[in-house]
Amino acid sequence: ASQTLQETLLAAIRTIPDYPKPGILFRDITTLLGDARAFRRSVDELVHPYAGSKIDKIAGIEARGFILGGAMAHQLSSGFVPIRKKGKLPYETVRVAYSLEYGLDEMEMHRDAVSPGERVILVDDLIATGGTAEGAVKLLRQMGAEIVAACFVIDLPDLGGRAKLEALGVSVNTLIA
Ligand code: AMP
Repeated sequence: ASQTLQETLLAAIRTIPDYPKPGILFRDITTLLGDARAFRRSVDELVHPYAGSKIDKIAGIEARGFILGGAMAHQLSSGFVPIRKKGKLPYETVRVAYSLEYGLDEMEMHRDAVSPGERVILVDDLIATGGTAEGAVKLLRQMGAEIVAACFVIDLPDLGGRAKLEALGVSVNTLIA
């Protein structure tokens, strides 16, 4: 019998309790990436709503968003833009602070990575509080991008990230909650 997408993803995502600290249930997608069928299916589902529409760039959040975003960009014939932790990009950047569970960090992208009016899809593996994705949305909008959607394999709905992005007017697409 063919598995549903939910069954495929549930079987392919590994859960590690108390990583990186006590009380956290870490959802590890390296097992999904290593499973050829689950990886292909995830990328197919992530791009499906946008097949046939013009997407200029996929913006991936370091580091797991790079892996998903590269595959999505190939399938949609889009460019790829890395959004990185501060200090990693070689050229001039725009930078934004974003909230983590404890305190703040900063992320950057190259100042010429997106042009005003370009249609961009943001991607990461998982949305929790939405602080990371909110930072990326601010950077992209600062550069004049039109954010078509933000995509994630996994949504942790109790943490409110999806609602936070939707309140910013971003349409959110996730594969499993
Ligand atoms: P947040 O900014 O709270 O939405 O956190 C999202 C970022 O942290 C993403 O880049 C995720 O990869 C990572 N993350 C947060 N919580 C988890 C978790 N329970 N399992 C795996 N990754 C997580």
